[in-house]
Parts: sequence; C-alpha cells; structure tokens
Amino acid sequence: MTDEPRPTNLRPSILDPLFAQARTLPGVGPKLAPLIERLLGTPEQPARIVDLLFHLPQGGVARTMMGSIAEAPPGEPVTLGVTVTGYRPPQPGAGRRPFRVLVEDGTGDITLVFFGMPQARVEKMLPLGAHRYISGRIDLWDGHRQMVHPSRIVDEAGLAALPAVELVYGATEGLTSRAISKLAHSALDRLPTLPEWQDPAWLAREGLPGFADALRAEHRPENAPPAPASDGVTPRTPARRRLAYDELLASQLALALMRARNRRAPGRANAGDGHLKDRIEAALPFALTGAQARAVEDIRADLASDRRMLRLLQGDVGSGKTAVALLAMASAVEVGRQAALMAPTEILARQHFERLTELVGSLRLRLLTGRDKVSERRATLADLADGHIDIVVGTHALFQDSVIFKDLGVAVVDEQHRFGVHQRLALGAKGAAVDILVMTATPIPRTLALTCFGDMDVSVLDEKPAGRQAIATRLVSIDRLDEVVMGLGRALASGDRVYWICPLVAESEYVDLAAAEDRFADLRQEFGDAVGLIHGKMPGPDKDAAMERFAAGETKILVSTTVVEVGVDVPEATIMVIEHAERFGLAQLHQLRGRVGRGAKASTCLLLYRGPLGQVSRARLEMMRETEDGFRIAEEDLRLRGEGEVLGTRQSGAAAFRLASLESDASLLEVARDDARLIVERDPGLRSERGRALRVLLYLFERDAAIRLLGAG
Ligand code: ADP
Ligand code: MG
Repeated sequence: MTDEPRPTNLRPSILDPLFAQARTLPGVGPKLAPLIERLLGTPEQPARIVDLLFHLPQGGVARTMMGSIAEAPPGEPVTLGVTVTGYRPPQPGAGRRPFRVLVEDGTGDITLVFFGMPQARVEKMLPLGAHRYISGRIDLWDGHRQMVHPSRIVDEAGLAALPAVELVYGATEGLTSRAISKLAHSALDRLPTLPEWQDPAWLAREGLPGFADALRAEHRPENAPPAPASDGVTPRTPARRRLAYDELLASQLALALMRARNRRAPGRANAGDGHLKDRIEAALPFALTGAQARAVEDIRADLASDRRMLRLLQGDVGSGKTAVALLAMASAVEVGRQAALMAPTEILARQHFERLTELVGSLRLRLLTGRDKVSERRATLADLADGHIDIVVGTHALFQDSVIFKDLGVAVVDEQHRFGVHQRLALGAKGAAVDILVMTATPIPRTLALTCFGDMDVSVLDEKPAGRQAIATRLVSIDRLDEVVMGLGRALASGDRVYWICPLVAESEYVDLAAAEDRFADLRQEFGDAVGLIHGKMPGPDKDAAMERFAAGETKILVSTTVVEVGVDVPEATIMVIEHAERFGLAQLHQLRGRVGRGAKASTCLLLYRGPLGQVSRARLEMMRETEDGFRIAEEDLRLRGEGEVLGTRQSGAAAFRLASLESDASLLEVARDDARLIVERDPGLRSERGRALRVLLYLFERDAAIRLLGAG
C-alpha cells in the first residue's frame, strides 16, 4: 500500500528510546541480531525495542518453588538446594557413558547425570562439598531419583539473581525463550517515564497498574502467569488488561478523531428533490427490497443534512448493495455534483461500470483503473476536473493525487475491508465535504465492527431479494471426482454455468496456479472449449476477457483461483465447485458460495475435500452445509480462526492487535469506545494534560495518521 502515510518525525522524543532498533541493546551481536529480526522485524521495518516489549510472554513457570528432594514430584520442574557429596566418573567401556554427581539435602539424595560434558567443567560447576541450587526435572531410574542435565546450577549469589519466573515466549529457531527474556529485561531498562494517559480514578477502581509497571510485571513477573483455560482463553492479569486497554483505546481514539473530523467539517446537502433518484429507481428491473428501501432512506437523510455522512452499508452477498450505492450516487448528481465508486479489483470495477451503464446510460459514466492507456487516462482526468463526468467507477487509481474532481459529493467504497482507513480518508479528501458510504459483504460481528469502523452509522441489508432459492450445499470427497465431473456434464447439457475454484496453497501463488492449470487441462479434455480459466497472475485484460466470456455464456465452466471471491455477479451461474474446501476459511467459503444462487434457478455448491478430515475441519464444513446465514458463519469463523483472518486484513495488519485479543478483551473494547468518544467530545484537539498524554499513546501504537488530523498544536 504505497498510499499509506509514512510515519513522520513528529513523534515526541520521549518515545525515541522505544523506537530505537532492538539490535542496539547490549549483548546483541551479529549472531543474535538476525534472529531478532526474524522474530520481530519485517523487510521494511527492523525490529524495535517497542516490538520486543510488546512481544508478551505466553506463559511461565515459577522458579521460587523450592522443594526438598524427598517431596519433589517427579516430572515437574523444581529447584533444590543441595550439597555435592561425590563423583561417579564414567566406567571405561563401550558406549557413551555419563558422568554422575551425587548430591543430597537433609531429606534424601539424588544423582545428577551429564552426558558428553568435560569432567573438569562439571567439577567446576559442582565442587565437592559445595552448596548449590539446581533446577530441572527429576525422574526415577530403577527407583532412584536422578536429574539429567539440570537446566540451571547456581550458587547463593546466582540464586538471588535468578528471575522468579521462567517465562515462555513465542520464539524462533535459534532464539530461546530465555534469550528473549534477557533481551526483554534490557529493553525494560530503556523504558522512559511516560505521562499517564489513562484516567487515574478508573485505573484505581479497576486495580490496574501503570503502563511501565504493567510491562515490567509481564516480562519480570513475581508469580507465574495463569495458564490458558480449557477453552484456550488466557485469563487476564491486571497487567495484561492494562496493556490490552492501552492498545484498544489507541485504536478507538484514532477512529473517534477521524469521525469527529468528519463530523466537524461542515457538510453540504448532497441530495435534491429526488427526481433523478426516483426516475432511476422506477427504471430498475426489480422493486427494491424493504431493506434496500430503508437503507436508501437512511442515506438520503444523511445526504440531505448538512452534516457529513459516514455510513457503513452491511449486507450479505447478493443482498443488493450495488443498487443502493447507485441511488446514493444519483442523489449527488441530482444536485449537480459528482460521485465516485471505488472497487477493490479491476474485475469488480469493470463489472460495476458495465452494470451501471445498463441501468443509467443517460448519466455520464467513466471507468478509471490503473490499466488505462495514457491518452485515455489524460482524457478522464480532464473530464473529471471539468465536470464532464457524473459518476466515475474505479480502483485504487482513484486515490492518486492527479485525480481531481470538479465537485465530488458522494464517495462509495465497495468491499470496504479490503481498503485501509487511510485510503478511505484519502478519497474523502478529494472534495469539499464528501459524504462517504462504505459497503461490505463480510458480515462483521459487532466486536469487530467496533474495532474497524468505530461508531460509524450502519445500515443493514438483512433481506434477500425475492425469488432467491436456497443453495444446496454438499460435502463430497475428492475420491468421487469422476462422479462430480459426470454430474457437470448433465448440468451443462441443461444450460447451467459452473465456477470451479482451485485450492489456495498459502506458500506459493505459483503452486495455486499450477493446480488451477492442471484442473483446467483435465476439464478441457472432458468439455473442450466450454471451459475457461482465470487466475490472479493473468494480465488484467485477459482476466476481463475470461470473465466476459463466462458472463456471456461462451464458456460454461470457469476454472479459477479465488479471484472470483468478491462481488462478481453472473446470475446464470448455478453451480459452485470448491476444491480442497477444507483449506478455506468459512467466511471465504461463504463469499465464494455467494457467487451462485443469484438468479431464479436453484443452485448447488459442492465442497470437495480430501479426507480424512479432522473433527474441526468436518465441523466447519458441516456448518457451511447447515446454514447460509453469513452472520452465523462469520461468528463461528471468528471463534475458530481469530479476528484478522475474518476480515482478510491479517496481511495488511489493519485489524491485528498486538496486546489485546478480541476473544479475551471484548468487554474492554466497548469501554474503550465510550472512553474515546468522551475524550474527543471534551477535548477534541487533545490539548489538556491528559490529551497531551493521549497523543503519546497514539504515537506509541503508531496511530500517527490520526494525530495529523489534529493539525498543529
Ligand atoms: P451484493 O450485495 O452482493 O453486492 P449485488 O448488488 O451484486 O449484491 O446484487 C446481486 C444481484 O441481485 C444482482 O444481480 C442484482 O441485480 C440483483 N438485485 C439487487 N436488488 C434486487 C432486488 N430488490 N430484487 C431482485 N434482484 C435484485
Ligand atoms: Mg457487491
């Protein structure tokens, strides 16, 4: 995303120590540095000290559990205070023999066992008669207690210096939890004293520590952290809750600031008497559903007011969002302004453009994508600037600085979750007071809607157009591929059209492609020219051509990687075959399945799987068979896979939290939202003492873009 604003040097210098590179920590040499980068860095962003501090431990084992030899439970980590009483050198003979050391305390004795370690070294660590503390696991050998390679051997002074708890971190090969723990300790030493940005009264009431204390409690705890419960949710300590809340508040505050900016900026009435909207509505080949009509009403009320609109239109696949968008855009044209519709892919932009051309040929429509010829593009830009275009449909290309409108009134962003919040802002900045409508087919659970959109206004299309039939979904083992292909033969004979989706192999797009090409070749042997192919690596014009041939019925089976996932609308398609369905996320399967069942004819979705399926995989696929309710599917997906994947934003990092978890901290999220709203109401410029501390919080969590909205001061 080249359009993302870059972090600037506005960051207060108090945070500099945290944003210094992790490799500047003491003890990091040429061996350690690349391991740290592998764990916490990215190609664009070397690992920083803040990344290390935010890499919280997953669990830990208390080391203070001092026991006696007699009482120490075998198999569990223990620390014992012992006296060294004798050596048992290896017996000469074949094989690898260990060196043994006898130790005892008042309650019993135990043998320490060392393989392949020079005798002199062992004797130096454990001199005869010395008192030492050893940690490790005891096992029973022939009824006698022994400990193989104690994990630690220290004297009195060493014991005092030991961390009370041995922490377990998400590690990387070559970098152990103990090494990470040491680094985290050095990082803690760099922690500056930051102003408190949370309400002290609230902190006291909730029993939560300060930010720095919370980090110390996490990385240098006195007690072992609680273990995850059986449902996988880790109980939250006060320290963890505090840190999670900081992160959630930063995200909610950023959203609240954007919203406030939007609201504060004077809006304009972007709807007239409705003559154009009514004319277009009357000319639609269908009557609006009740839900569509309500959404149009909501939107027109927003447009007619002089506040700026920021509305989310949420509707399951096939619920008819495009028609609503068209009527919103028509309202702007009605008052002599322009409208823009932005789609996440070329194919979708083109499809929207063609659909709109059919519906409202009388308006001046134009398509703008990154693929236009230079001359075309120049003409489009000129016409946009001169006001010779009413509605422009496009891709990311619409964000570019060279795109200037004469007077943009309404901007619609389709499949919003594919774009970042910044991009939405960029489009909004292309006019005097642009009203923004964002649309998403991802049925977003409420907790997620809050994190991504803050408290945007929402209209929901909770009603499908009449006449839609249920999609029969079946699970079929790939062993029965021949039967499936025979079935397709019959379906083609009766005029059906088929999508055939090939598996996504995460490691390599080229492998995906090979799979799709193989399947294409197979099906082509069977059905000849009736089979088409489309995939993400194809040049754009080839993609369009393949899509057009399928839409026109020249090809009847479209073999595809997941490029058809979002938005594509070919009502004649009635069969969806998804290979290796077990590899897809539920929400993605739902999106794919939503490509059929769009016409009046009954549709089928075949989920081909390669057995044997594990219990969870089977449960997931059966869920797909059971319901077409995208909302239920999304909630289930959230539960099974975590938030980032549901929105498809894990890669772009837009929704992923580092310290908070939507499973464990959902209740905090709502508190953060209310808190953020109140803060912005009372101190919109973040100028009070707490406001200034909150700016530090925003920088700390890299919400720099939100701060730029505040302007100077
Ligand atoms: P989505 O919400 O997934 O973007 P679309 O806007 O692509 O859905 O609409 C899906 C299909 O339903 C299109 O073919 C569209 O023409 C049709 N459609 C939309 N609204 C209605 C309606 N009220 N009655 C019948 N068909 C409709
Ligand atoms: Mg759509």
